[in-house]
Amino acid sequence: MNRRLAEFGTSIFAEMSGLAIETGAINLGQGFPDTDGPGEIIEAAVAAMHDGQNQYPHPSGVPQLREAIAAHQKRFRGLDFDPATEVLVTTGATEALAAAMMGLCNPGDEVVTFEPYFDSYAAVIALAGAERRVVALRTPDFAFDREAFVAAISPKTRLVLLNTPHNPTGKVFTHEEMTFVAQQCVEHDLIAVTDEVYEHLVFDGEHRSLATYPGMADRTVTISSGGKTFSFTGWKVGWACARPELLAGLRGVKQFLTFASGGPFQHGIAAGLTMDDAYFEAFVADFRAKRDRLAAGLEAIGHRVFTPAGTYFIVTDISGLTDQSALEFCRELPARRGVVAIPSSTFYDDPDEGRQLVRWAFCKRDEVLDEAVARLAGEG
Ligand code: PMP
Ligand code: GLN
Repeated sequence: MNRRLAEFGTSIFAEMSGLAIETGAINLGQGFPDTDGPGEIIEAAVAAMHDGQNQYPHPSGVPQLREAIAAHQKRFRGLDFDPATEVLVTTGATEALAAAMMGLCNPGDEVVTFEPYFDSYAAVIALAGAERRVVALRTPDFAFDREAFVAAISPKTRLVLLNTPHNPTGKVFTHEEMTFVAQQCVEHDLIAVTDEVYEHLVFDGEHRSLATYPGMADRTVTISSGGKTFSFTGWKVGWACARPELLAGLRGVKQFLTFASGGPFQHGIAAGLTMDDAYFEAFVADFRAKRDRLAAGLEAIGHRVFTPAGTYFIVTDISGLTDQSALEFCRELPARRGVVAIPSSTFYDDPDEGRQLVRWAFCKRDEVLDEAVARLAGEG
């Protein structure tokens, strides 16, 4: 195995979803909904299959989807992208992130990001031969120390990787924080890569794209995906939007990773992106109610809940319940209580930082959330 990969072992999502299957536990670990998204999106994908759209699609993505992505960026963010040259469809945001790190970094470059971080970040930064420099987001509000951010930047820094709304904390970066990060990027002439896969899951505050800040449009790669927004995580339709010079790096990698991504699914997500505002409003309202439901349930059984402003995850502190580390707690939980959760500690460079922080996914039917809480309370 590649030395750069060896230290990452098995992803925590694979381990915990494996445990859920083995034990029959309720899976509040890996974030995927237990209901499908809109029927019209499925119909559009099926129609594309019947219509003969079954061979390699355009390597940049089917034109209808690229146009829908550009129109969505304009409609929700006020951003202008040319669908012909500034939009690249990828196999999930995961591939876009990998292509961005490998296509934009040289060995020895440094990438500044925040911890806890989504697990693929560390792996793809390492595979690119780059080094990560992390800035901690700390409880209770997951704010970061601006001096620590400045200190993380060095002459070797190539780019800043920012995820908002943020997995696992549920933090939505504030306007002031985004302004500060943008100023640092401009001052140090850095590229920004943003992961906005939870852009339509904001309950408190407002989602803003870093590309909209002064000086950022030409230096930002904006990444998102249809998985969360339309509840089709298994379709793996993602995208990256950037000026052609920046996108060239990602294209170069993508052509040798996958060359092109699943065509019919792209037609489905194109139909999703063009749905009217009522869909997006109902979607966020539905998930806000689920957030409140699970947060109240976990609080009632002794968890310290950090109410998330966005995403479909809640982080809790288990120190009021046990001395166990989050990893020990989560490894035992499926057998002990029939519930799976993710130890947030695995998303930190220093696991002591998040030693007793556990992440719970609330993208599940209400009765499943209620049953999970009952089991955790020992009543299940
Ligand atoms: N980034 C973050 C922060 C995520 O939570 C996820 C969810 N898997 C991804 C990227 C990957 O998205 P996709 O499923 O579209 O590859
Ligand atoms: N984004 C999802 C999560 O954080 C899925 C992760 C994955 O499957 N790699 O749970």
